[in-house]
Amino acid sequence: MNVLVLNAGSSSLKFQLIATDREAIAANKDVRLCRGQINRFGGEVVIEVLMRDGSRRKFAASTRDMQASLEHLMQWLASDASGIDEIRALSDVHAVGHRVVHGGELFAESMLITDEVLKGIEDCIELAPLHNPNNIKGILAARQVFGPKLPQVAVFDTSFHHSIPEHAYLYAIPYHLYPRHRIRRYGFHGTSHRYVSERYRMLRGVSKEQTNLITLHLGNGCSAAAIRGGLSVDTSMGMTPLEGLVMGTRSGDLDPAIVGLIATKESLSITETEALLNTQSGLLGLSGLSNDMRVLQEELKGHDDRRVRLAIEVFCYRAKKYIGAFLAGMGGSDAIVFTGGIGENSADIRARICAGLEWAGLKLDEKRNQQTVGSEGQISTDDSSLHAFVIPTDEELLIARDAVRCVLGQPDAAHSESSSKTRGARM
Ligand code: ADP
Repeated sequence: MNVLVLNAGSSSLKFQLIATDREAIAANKDVRLCRGQINRFGGEVVIEVLMRDGSRRKFAASTRDMQASLEHLMQWLASDASGIDEIRALSDVHAVGHRVVHGGELFAESMLITDEVLKGIEDCIELAPLHNPNNIKGILAARQVFGPKLPQVAVFDTSFHHSIPEHAYLYAIPYHLYPRHRIRRYGFHGTSHRYVSERYRMLRGVSKEQTNLITLHLGNGCSAAAIRGGLSVDTSMGMTPLEGLVMGTRSGDLDPAIVGLIATKESLSITETEALLNTQSGLLGLSGLSNDMRVLQEELKGHDDRRVRLAIEVFCYRAKKYIGAFLAGMGGSDAIVFTGGIGENSADIRARICAGLEWAGLKLDEKRNQQTVGSEGQISTDDSSLHAFVIPTDEELLIARDAVRCVLGQPDAAHSESSSKTRGARM
């Protein structure tokens, strides 16, 4: 099957075209036909495509909105100009998989999109006002372009964390606020945490029940997940992606009283204070230089800037603290898995996070750590009792695979961490 994976944002539409089916999934032999991004809606858009052979194409189109841009992209993909033999007509796309940020408590797994499912995604707009409306726009645009008969599948960032028990998802505030305003921990990056935990299972040849991991997704956004018996039992992001680890521009955990204090002392509204915590904090706020870890590491090497050093130290200490907390919460783990741009590529950050975890049984193998950049591998010594691995994430691949599983049925049910709370058409 050729699956078009869409990640619709406010000013961009990211896409990947992946050829996969049950056999390809089982053999890990899915083929990425191309990937890219459509930027800037309103006026002219620029479409950038990275082809299978590594070449890049870039072209502009005078289209106004997401639907027209998608239509234009599909015309190009199906034309001789793209050189993608698998796509000769719209009908050569057999399913569309959408990244949907928030599934609230409604969706415990990926869903074939029906009107009822679409309504459920709308119900969750209140929980993700910046994201779900764009995801819905993407779904409606694809429905227009491909027609209502083409199966579309929603894959939620929150679904994997549905298995988190009450004692880990409730905040200690008056209980009635939970049912009244749906205030609880939902967690995010679920597709990434699930992908690396499934890949770990494949690489190690262990069953789901034997999968006990702490996964660290360290990218621009950062989160940790505690995975016991293959299920997420806790995660660092909360009601929103602001909680938890230090991120590129987000503060992560802080004393909630600080919000009111900043608002009062800096004469900011609550909304402006929240924006400060989301967009001007984290690595950027601490360093005063950049949210980009590569830039900070180069600066540290070149000038040993004090604030840059502090930003990196706070970042790594927070990650280490979460590892300790999750080890206690889940009663020990077999491994820590690093993923995301920083986790996959920065041996230095991984070494800083792992340093001092020898008490927990983790001994980092320096050479393996240095050699594992952007690739899969074990970075702990063989005699460690708590191992460390690097597994590059691939959320789009998991979305494509879920689309196949939802459309064809579920013999291997790899994504089915099922819950009775799920509503709508489950396949
Ligand atoms: P996103 O969360 O937006 O998908 P990524 O997962 O691509 O982002 O992660 C982006 C982060 O990864 C940036 O902070 C970037 O500096 C960092 N990064 C990428 N490559 C390296 C590297 N070689 N060393 C250190 N950090 C890196």
